[in-house]
Amino acid sequence: MSGRTLFTKIIEGEIPCYKLYENEHVFAFLDINPLSKGHTLLIPKEPAPTIDQLTPDSAAAIGKALPILSRAIKEATGAIAYNIIQNNGKEAGMTVPHVHFHIIPRYPESKHSFTWEPKSMDVSEGRTIADAIQHSLSE
Ligand code: 5GP
Repeated sequence: MSGRTLFTKIIEGEIPCYKLYENEHVFAFLDINPLSKGHTLLIPKEPAPTIDQLTPDSAAAIGKALPILSRAIKEATGAIAYNIIQNNGKEAGMTVPHVHFHIIPRYPESKHSFTWEPKSMDVSEGRTIADAIQHSLSE
């Protein structure tokens, strides 16, 4: 078994796709099961399974490509808005373990939704978790 991901096979042309964009580090194509017209996947060529494992060069290239693609998608589709969604880990809804950003256009008639149940912030919990994350960042 080669261990190559489904998306690596798409990058390499082994599995067909509607390709939109490619450079040294990234590749973009239409999602096969779109939530809306123009639903796009932007992926690094590096087959990192989650974003925390992405190298700085790939991360920078993704950051540069996101606004370029978003502008093109908006212009080509006439979308009034769009969501960028990125799942990490199967418990978070990730089905293909190769980093990918969904760019999902929204139209006046769009009905899709993303479930979100906000809670109020507990002040002491907020302080504790902020301190813990800052500590991890400084390591
Ligand atoms: P996830 O659920 O992991 O965030 O998103 C994976 C996405 O990949 C899904 O939206 C799914 O439709 C898309 N996808 C899965 N297999 C293929 C494929 O073979 N070709 C294309 N173009 N998209 C795929």
